[in-house]
Amino acid sequence: MSLRPRWVAALAALVLITAPVSVPAQAAPAAAPSVTLGAGESALIRFRLPGEDMLRRLVAGGADLAARPRTQDGAVLVDMVVDDQQLATLTGQGAVPVQVIQRESDRARVSARSGLAVQADTLHFLQAYWWTTGGRTFLQTQVATTASDDPDLEITVTWRTADGATGSFPLVRFEDAGEYQYHYTLPRPLPAKPVQVTATSSLGGTARAVTPAAWPGATPPAAPSGYQKDFVDAYMTPVDVRARIKRLGRQYPALVDVINLPRKTQGYRRTAVAYLGDPAAVAVVVESVKFGDQNMNGVQVRTVDPGVANRPLAATYRDRVLTVRLATDAGGKVISTTDDVAAFITARYPQQFRAFVEDGSAGVPMPVTGPARLDDGLEGAEVPKGPWTVQALRIGKVRDGSKPGVLAYSQEHAREWATPLVTLEFAERLLANYATDPATRELVDSVDVFVIPTVNPDGANYSFNDFNFQRKNLVNHCTGAARDPRNRDSWGVDVNRNYTVGSYFDGYVGGSGNCLSGTYAGTAELSENESGNVIALAQAHPNIGLAMNVHSYGGYFMWPPGAYKADGRVTLPRPSIDESKFFLDSARRIVGAIASERGTVTWPSYTGPVADVLYSAAGNSADQLYYELGIDAWDFEVGNDRWNEATQQWEGVGFQPPFDEAHAESQEYAGGLVELVRVARDKEAGEQ
Ligand SMILES: [Zn+2]
Repeated sequence: MSLRPRWVAALAALVLITAPVSVPAQAAPAAAPSVTLGAGESALIRFRLPGEDMLRRLVAGGADLAARPRTQDGAVLVDMVVDDQQLATLTGQGAVPVQVIQRESDRARVSARSGLAVQADTLHFLQAYWWTTGGRTFLQTQVATTASDDPDLEITVTWRTADGATGSFPLVRFEDAGEYQYHYTLPRPLPAKPVQVTATSSLGGTARAVTPAAWPGATPPAAPSGYQKDFVDAYMTPVDVRARIKRLGRQYPALVDVINLPRKTQGYRRTAVAYLGDPAAVAVVVESVKFGDQNMNGVQVRTVDPGVANRPLAATYRDRVLTVRLATDAGGKVISTTDDVAAFITARYPQQFRAFVEDGSAGVPMPVTGPARLDDGLEGAEVPKGPWTVQALRIGKVRDGSKPGVLAYSQEHAREWATPLVTLEFAERLLANYATDPATRELVDSVDVFVIPTVNPDGANYSFNDFNFQRKNLVNHCTGAARDPRNRDSWGVDVNRNYTVGSYFDGYVGGSGNCLSGTYAGTAELSENESGNVIALAQAHPNIGLAMNVHSYGGYFMWPPGAYKADGRVTLPRPSIDESKFFLDSARRIVGAIASERGTVTWPSYTGPVADVLYSAAGNSADQLYYELGIDAWDFEVGNDRWNEATQQWEGVGFQPPFDEAHAESQEYAGGLVELVRVARDKEAGEQ
């Protein structure tokens, strides 16, 4: 069986069963940078895919999409973490790498129209918004056509400014799960604020002209002079986060409880493994049953020729050395196979070892080899190895459940290093300004705030020390040959696909049953302690009415529904009209607060239900909080694309940008979380 994630195999199959997808000449891309990766090297790369089909195959196969796929000039842009082999597979099938966002360990359609007379369609602006950031004005529009079944229909938007300047740009059709959504494009730079936009289609349809609205159209209350901020100085590991939580608890005892969440995680640990033989030729993998740090690292294993005829397969395990004596025939020749040896070790020492045949080594003579030392392979020597207690901060003057509760939680995904900086900066702003800022005091007196900075500490430790693109936790549910240590960077459960509502197990899109997939949903709903902790905290505090799940990157502001079933794109139930209005009105306030820090404006097209603006994420936490516990549950993707004036392109920032960028993200999104707390207060007061 192939040990590559299933989506690569799915892609290979795609090439065999579908006609080549051609990119029309008009959409021919500018010369793309040549991207090469070393053997086994991974990188976060923005690809241009030749069409939607390839994207659908990727998602169905469990591909780990880092941000929302977007359509540009008839092609689809996706960000994915790939290794050199996956890069070769993708490029061989027509995907073009257009931006290397981050390397591993790099810290810090046009168709011939028939000419037949056709009836004009009707167009309708769903969105038309403008904003100014960094001295540059942008316009973003979404337009729907009544000719929604026509894939070749083209829509052009024309804008005009107050001084009479005009221009136009094409929109692109956006389909999701095979269903027409609307036409849109990325925000476009304009010379000045637009006062009117119109739209026309290639069928002759027009939209009524509209005046674009200012986005987000809300600004937070001004911070008073002396307001304290800037409490993060560097990226923080789980050890650093734990120390910060402890310090805040000590420094502000009247305002803080430190909560130990009930389900300890596995810890930064792995079983110890050795190849008995040469994995490039013939080998058996021997793995400890216990973790490497439980006295199994360094244990040696070897096979020997007994040198005597007619011996059965036998073994001894003493003084931390496992010696396997191979079987011989009447002539004294070794006759044990790889399968014999693997099965024998597993059966003979079920408490100590399990063994399996390396892929490609089945049924061949077992070589005399070793000794080899078992090792867990973990590089973070200073990271505590035992089970980990995930902690939350509870902040408020009155922490008895009588005040409206707000939950902010981050780093479900290990590699999203900026996210605990956001939630810790937010927590400390509330605490540090309590004594000096009357508005902060009034806020902290009237709400009950819960913060989990690092939901997935084990994965985070792995991301900091071993594989910086680690997304999942460290629990390895693979069986058989998928446990080969060559897959070590693909093990684990996607914590944010392990919840109970709209899950992979319920048949929703965006989670995977393949233990090596980036979106592996686990063995069952809430099989993982990390997800169990988030739900346990929310269940224990029924006053929690609002929640924010902080991720990176991409610059999104989202709410339920977060998942759909593929056939017919049937989403989880839509919020009511009133709830939807509350979500959007609150979002505009919070987007305004984010923008007040350094001008970063979350796009209107990225503000809305997860399933509409990003992708279907089966079994995500916000959906369980909303549908099961009645909590208004939002998601941030911090780290908005930055506009590059020189190239006139939006550029992705990645999971681990240079610290200055991560710091700026922490400042602006902490401001957004403070505004979320104001929303909670106002909701309680009936003002919204
Ligand atoms: Zn994430």
